[in-house]
Amino acid sequence: VSAVLEDLLAGLADDEVVRGPRTGAYLGDESGIVPAGAPLAVVTPGSVAAVQHVARVASRHRTPLVVRGAGTGLSGGAVAPAGGIVLSTERLDRVRIDPGDQVAEVGPGAITDAVDRAARAHGLMYAPDPASSARSTIGGNIATGAGGLRCVKYGVTRDAVLGLEVVLADGELLSTGHRSVKGVTGLDLTALFVGSEGALGIVVGATLRLVPAAVRERTLVVSASSLAEAGRAVEVVTSAGVRPSCLELLDRGTLENIDGNRGTDLAARHGEALVIVRTDGVGSGAEIAAIAAALEAEGLDAELLDDAEGDRYAELRRTGRGSRPGMWKVGEDMAVPRSQLVAALEALHEIGRAYEVSVEVVAHAGDGNLHPLLSAPRLPGETHPPTRLLAAADALVRRALALGGTLSGEHGIGSAKRPWLADELGEEQLALQRRLKAVFDPLGILAPDGFLASDDALRVLTREQVPA
Ligand SMILES: Cc1cc2nc3c(=O)[nH]c(=O)nc-3n(C[C@H](O)[C@H](O)[C@H](O)COP(=O)(O)OP(=O)(O)OC[C@H]3O[C@@H](n4cnc5c(N)ncnc54)[C@H](O)[C@@H]3O)c2cc1C
Repeated sequence: VSAVLEDLLAGLADDEVVRGPRTGAYLGDESGIVPAGAPLAVVTPGSVAAVQHVARVASRHRTPLVVRGAGTGLSGGAVAPAGGIVLSTERLDRVRIDPGDQVAEVGPGAITDAVDRAARAHGLMYAPDPASSARSTIGGNIATGAGGLRCVKYGVTRDAVLGLEVVLADGELLSTGHRSVKGVTGLDLTALFVGSEGALGIVVGATLRLVPAAVRERTLVVSASSLAEAGRAVEVVTSAGVRPSCLELLDRGTLENIDGNRGTDLAARHGEALVIVRTDGVGSGAEIAAIAAALEAEGLDAELLDDAEGDRYAELRRTGRGSRPGMWKVGEDMAVPRSQLVAALEALHEIGRAYEVSVEVVAHAGDGNLHPLLSAPRLPGETHPPTRLLAAADALVRRALALGGTLSGEHGIGSAKRPWLADELGEEQLALQRRLKAVFDPLGILAPDGFLASDDALRVLTREQVPA
């Protein structure tokens, strides 16, 4: 151990190593269910050369290495490995906007909102906007393939990444992709790194596509008397011939949660579910009017909001929910084809009733991406979540797969969702993906507990815990 530390510290400045109680802030993520190990070291390299040094030391000593952005991840990907190195990208936060080429050149530790703000100074914006964008990093967004509220119109992080600088496990620096709008030379390694959750390499730089900034956002809300009716409203909006810039769904449980947290009266005002629809760009007024007309023609209850109220609803959707103290919780992230949204929504409460757990849901509905939160009371003396909670989560994921969906729309797999990976990919594809990882990281030091880990010692949900 001392040889690894000695080697590591030899190539880093004092302020590139986190020591003492401050390390506590770098261990877990927001999944809340994946326990962190005690790492050997937490480092915050201030240059690409320092990242290369850390990778070389980790390779030389076969020491596990986990990359960390802001730790807002929800699948355990950034959780510290026992005896390993945590590499935080917080100091690699440069942001440079090129308004002529409409690209941003950024370090992995740049905060998502900071990139967007810098672009807006030039009449541009960085479109992918996870609800965590005030805290999440671009590196974390790239590694998880993050989505967000505007992605229904502008596409997800994958669609915004033109090129990457990546430090591989052995310390080699690789440059992928292109700076031009178009570019198809060679295999698309940029796409391979997007969503690879720190398992193939360490993203140390990115060239991001920017788009013209939204001109004026218009908002309407639909109050629905059931989840099925809300799902129907989403279908009407997506077939109205207009691409909204936000199409979100919140069920009654979520509205009550926000009301409790923020003192609002959303549940009383909107009933069983609320759908938030926004348009932006130069045609936003005409677009929102067309959507309102389509909803009204179907007898749905649509209300146009003024700009301030529209912004307030968007903000409540992003940050309004509070935590659930005293509860065991499992959050899911399945996505289904848009045509299956109503079926998926109906399955939520049916499964909640069958397993006697509470289910509340918020959804990037325009993308068919559901975030059900399953919860059960934490009884005195209980050290593990009740089996029925895990079984309900399992049933939900299986239903999403049966509907032609995927187990993760945007949060990634990490160790939290690994038990289902083979169910979706199949054993052959999973084996191929593991062989691909071995090409980039032959010693298996990167993200050793991550989604491509080859052992079956799952730390969170085990098949034994989850009855069929
Ligand atoms: C309140 C809240 C709302 C959220 N809303 C959304 C949402 O709308 N959409 C969405 O997609 N997600 C959402 N998330 C989840 C989370 O914010 C995203 O997954 C985000 O992309 C994680 O970024 P991060 O910087 O916190 O990464 P971390 O949590 O630090 O890391 C996530 C993963 O990326 C890897 N990683 C980080 N940086 C690098 C790098 N430079 N190179 C290689 N690998 C790296 C880590 O090893 C880990 O596997 C939300 C989370 C919270 C808490």
